Amino acid sequence: MPDPVLALDLGGTKIRAALVHGLDAVEVETAPRLEHVAEVPTPAAEGAAAILGAALDLAERVCEGTAVQAVGISSAGVVDVEDGRITHATDSLTGWAGTAVTTPFMERFGVPVAALNDVHAHGLGEARFGTGRGRGSLLLMAVGTGIGGRQVQGGTVVVGARGAAGHVGHVPVPEAEGVPCPCGRTGHLEGLASGPGVVRLAARLRTADPASGASSPDPSAAPRDGRELAAAAVRGDRAALEAYRLAGRATGRVLGALLNVLDPDVVALTGGVADAGVTVWLEALAAGIAEEAMDVVAATPVPPASAGSQAAPLGAAVRAVEVPVR
Ligand SMILES: [Zn+2]
Repeated sequence: MPDPVLALDLGGTKIRAALVHGLDAVEVETAPRLEHVAEVPTPAAEGAAAILGAALDLAERVCEGTAVQAVGISSAGVVDVEDGRITHATDSLTGWAGTAVTTPFMERFGVPVAALNDVHAHGLGEARFGTGRGRGSLLLMAVGTGIGGRQVQGGTVVVGARGAAGHVGHVPVPEAEGVPCPCGRTGHLEGLASGPGVVRLAARLRTADPASGASSPDPSAAPRDGRELAAAAVRGDRAALEAYRLAGRATGRVLGALLNVLDPDVVALTGGVADAGVTVWLEALAAGIAEEAMDVVAATPVPPASAGSQAAPLGAAVRAVEVPVR
């Protein structure tokens, strides 16, 4: 049996590592399995050297002397996949931009190493082992803390010339006019319809029409996060329902337009807002898609993603075996 692949997931709050067995058995429809899964908190404020050190220590602990055939790294930030370097990162990982993330693992393990942005790794994992399995192309649409789309075509994730492909939350929608977006611009889908965006939208609607929150136990207490907002929608809170309706429709219209441009075999939905399963959001999403999608793509299936939390490490492991950094 071939040696396992070491997969690492480097995030803003934790670093996860696992040994991936059975990647080579994909053709016979057996799912690969993750073993020796372990995680440590990311020393996010201590700089790149500390983060890499923690990742290397965790990697060695997970391997425990087991030989690995490759190392796949899924990381927060924009990744130059050609040389395994982080080119842009948010402040959630201090000093992460500019880090050559693959080099220390090549030196330590002496095997092929690849790095992918975590959302691209997630898309590749979902395409190979989740909703996209057996299909030619997939669009993974993530609607959560942010909004992103990962396009996988012919088994390869589209990363773009600068590693930035798939920022589908940063397209203009009329409902978001004047609404700030985390990217620093205004009017983008993400500022309106991401998880935090919907919570803020509900608060604005409540301010504009105080009676719309009257069904809350305490009408003055606006929902503070997605969980509270979803609960308010279930109670019939008008501001919450209207926020989900507006956000779902805007997201659906963008998704319908993306179907016209990309024509994927299937779209997989993931992320906290999508997973909350709020009926009014799902209905508005479908209505938005129907408004924009041309007839030829209007029936594209849009099921929930199915590869789960293992999708990103699996995608990184696949990349390391197929397209390692040279
Ligand atoms: Zn934006």
